[in-house]
Amino acid sequence: MHVVVLGAGLMGVTSAHALWRDGHEVTVVERAPRPASATSHANAGLIAASRALPWPAPGVWRTLARGLVERDAPWRIERAFDNVFDPAFWRWGAQLLSLSNVADHDRLARAKLAFAAYGHRALRDLISETGIACGYRAEGLVHVCRSAKTLAAAEARSAYVARHGVRLAVITARQAAQIEPALAPAVAKGTVIAASYAPEDGQGDARRFTEALAQWLADREVIFRYGTAARDLRSRGARITHVELDDGTALTCDAVVATLGPYVGRTFGSTLAQALGETPPIHPVKGFSMTVPVRDPARVPRLGGICEDTLVAWCPIEDGRFIRLTTGAIFGARDASWSDRDFEAHRRAAESLWPGLLEWDSPAVERWACLRPMTPSSLPYIGQGSFENLWWNAGQGHIGWTMCAGSANVLADLIGGRMPRVPIDDFERL
Ligand SMILES: Cc1cc2nc3c(=O)[nH]c(=O)nc-3n(C[C@H](O)[C@H](O)[C@H](O)COP(=O)(O)OP(=O)(O)OC[C@H]3O[C@@H](n4cnc5c(N)ncnc54)[C@H](O)[C@@H]3O)c2cc1C
Repeated sequence: MHVVVLGAGLMGVTSAHALWRDGHEVTVVERAPRPASATSHANAGLIAASRALPWPAPGVWRTLARGLVERDAPWRIERAFDNVFDPAFWRWGAQLLSLSNVADHDRLARAKLAFAAYGHRALRDLISETGIACGYRAEGLVHVCRSAKTLAAAEARSAYVARHGVRLAVITARQAAQIEPALAPAVAKGTVIAASYAPEDGQGDARRFTEALAQWLADREVIFRYGTAARDLRSRGARITHVELDDGTALTCDAVVATLGPYVGRTFGSTLAQALGETPPIHPVKGFSMTVPVRDPARVPRLGGICEDTLVAWCPIEDGRFIRLTTGAIFGARDASWSDRDFEAHRRAAESLWPGLLEWDSPAVERWACLRPMTPSSLPYIGQGSFENLWWNAGQGHIGWTMCAGSANVLADLIGGRMPRVPIDDFERL
């Protein structure tokens, strides 16, 4: 069967791999000149089942309300004119709030934590099977607390995820400095007062992985069409027969897989969006990523983690020559624009944890903004679309690096007519 995959982010490339492994002929269409050019370009790199909690949660409305008025809150709502008149934006928000009760949160957490843990195992297997070098390391992640408030929240999270079989231990500041010696100065100064340690989590450079897997597949007869967007679909009855590209070609296909990340639905108002018919309820939530060269490799952290007080995540990449820092969740953003102000939190957090470690003024600093593909439930949509031979693999949101290989396996199971290898009953629905 010839399958055309739309998009070459983490989901597109891992889907192509799972379908190629099943013996399909695969063509990947990516509008950018290379893979990992959108959300998968500069994520935090944390493979973090222990962070896979659903965003709909009791009391989330308080965080959202804060984000409407406080311009420096990590979660913010864009007060844009377009949003006021966008029914999809309000519907998505209403769905998220309707799931923000104890019973739904528990149900979604059970499914999401289990799927993220499976996703990590599937990703580890894929990396070892292909031999792809992406700085993958599974020695745990350390999340630091700088206040009694975030320490109490870490204790509650640790107890909660333990009920779902995920290990996240609250540790003292001294233990944190033993596990991650780069934190020792911040611990000595009292900046870090405690931490949580997720021993089964991992880290790796998602961009390097996506690029290398695309090349690995291209070497094995998977075709990649870069620099041309899928523009429209041709169909006969309930089946898509061709995918039309911007460069004027039309690819014949037996099946189409849409891995368009956040570029779904009316928000991006394209002909393709109309042609795809009903789309999963995905809302783009913007985040900001900064990759900064390291001045002193001897002091670089070995493990990734998150500062619980600022929600800045970090990960050493490129053999510790750079640190990637990410933060921010802007609801209602419609593009990937940024300003210098969007990166102040990154710098403040890094300077307080590792003073003087990073070369902020180097021309090698990369600033990046991108859109998380979030569903209201914060579980992905993997399944059939409006045509018999249209499949979606999208909506992995804030945790798509962790879930990509697992999502691709489930997609391949569904396309192959097999029972999905993990239960997907609680996943997002059309
Ligand atoms: C700041 C930030 C930090 C994150 N940190 C982590 C983390 O630490 N751990 C983790 O697990 N996850 C993390 N994530 C989440 C993860 O990065 C995403 O879930 C994942 O990258 C989504 O991948 P995707 O393939 O669905 O989307 P994308 O990577 O956006 O891929 C979609 C592709 O479709 C292409 N496309 C769009 N329209 C067309 C068209 N018409 N024709 C052809 N191609 C088209 C786009 O160019 C794009 O390349 C983070 C996300 C953000 C924003």
